[in-house]
Amino acid sequence: MCSLSGALPSPEDYPRVLPLPSPSAWVGAVQWFGLAFSPGPQDPDHSAISLPEEQPSDIAESVRHPVQMCNHRVPSSPAAAKNRAAQVAQEDAKVRVMATPLVLSGSSLNTFLRCPKQWEFAYVQRIKEPPTLRLALGSAAHTAVEFDLREKMETGDDQPLEQMQDTFRDEFEKESYGAEDTPKETKGQALDSGVKCVEVWHKKVAPDTHPLAVEEEVQFSINGVPIAGTIDVVKQVGDPTSWFESKRIIGDWKFVGKKPQDAGTYLLNMIGYGIGLRQKTGLKEDGIVLDHLVRTKEPYHFPIASKGPIPDESIDAYGDIVAGVARDIEAGSFPPTGLQGHACSWCGYKARCPAYKAAHI
Ligand code: SF4
Repeated sequence: MCSLSGALPSPEDYPRVLPLPSPSAWVGAVQWFGLAFSPGPQDPDHSAISLPEEQPSDIAESVRHPVQMCNHRVPSSPAAAKNRAAQVAQEDAKVRVMATPLVLSGSSLNTFLRCPKQWEFAYVQRIKEPPTLRLALGSAAHTAVEFDLREKMETGDDQPLEQMQDTFRDEFEKESYGAEDTPKETKGQALDSGVKCVEVWHKKVAPDTHPLAVEEEVQFSINGVPIAGTIDVVKQVGDPTSWFESKRIIGDWKFVGKKPQDAGTYLLNMIGYGIGLRQKTGLKEDGIVLDHLVRTKEPYHFPIASKGPIPDESIDAYGDIVAGVARDIEAGSFPPTGLQGHACSWCGYKARCPAYKAAHI
């Protein structure tokens, strides 16, 4: 099925040994796989992950057979591809994906699957989505938790709660500048609920979160489509003395308005992170977990997780989805499918979307 390879890093690359977390943090998980995807047609050529053999972190090999998308430039030679890869590596992950659509990411895949028309606005027309409270809250929450985990990587200790909450407030103020209140929530209410969620994170999630890696960049190619992403956190669970003896749980966190039924399209990100981690370290993940902080009146922690390595069939399904998205992008097919779901309700492109306007005359 899938063959994964890559040079193993030296144990000295990851020397920090952190206190043991409680396994109860992730036991009792909800199983996702097999539920979220039905694999597409089995095409042998669409089931292989392309991994560079000599330099696993070098994306040049991954872009050797790039997907041609819309009007975007294809590297004309291996040297050009390598130059392009070096350029890409220097840019911020989000900006990189927006500026170089040859490389897809988890978030751009999510955007496309949510509504291809939204993807066209963001990645073809390069129109920055206006700020919304939802986006501002997600971004501020991400930064507050990331800062906490980075501190923990260095010191073994979490930041004080007040410091995390201050980070959240500062980021929320910046990110929500220009965002309008919604019928459901004012800016002040969003801020308050986010601050409360940070407290829940600090009490319920942080004590059992022992990061081996935070914001770890990964790159790989699947079915000829280059993917770049950033793993939010690799958690250490079990009886570890190093990367090689501990259990590695790939994690992400979301502050959400209501209890999720499943991982939704975030599952794609997690599968991509798993593939990226395998390529970068030569090691398989031992599980994945999405820590949701649900922003109800009394916020609570709701993890959705899967134990064990990501199954091959899920990786195959991921590859089929990636290939399908790349084909649609190449064909310039961007139907406004957000109209059939709930995506329009919080889409920042509503005011300029002809399909939305036509449907709401
Ligand atoms: S308004 Fe709706 S249909 Fe239009 S781009 Fe946004 S999500 Fe898609």
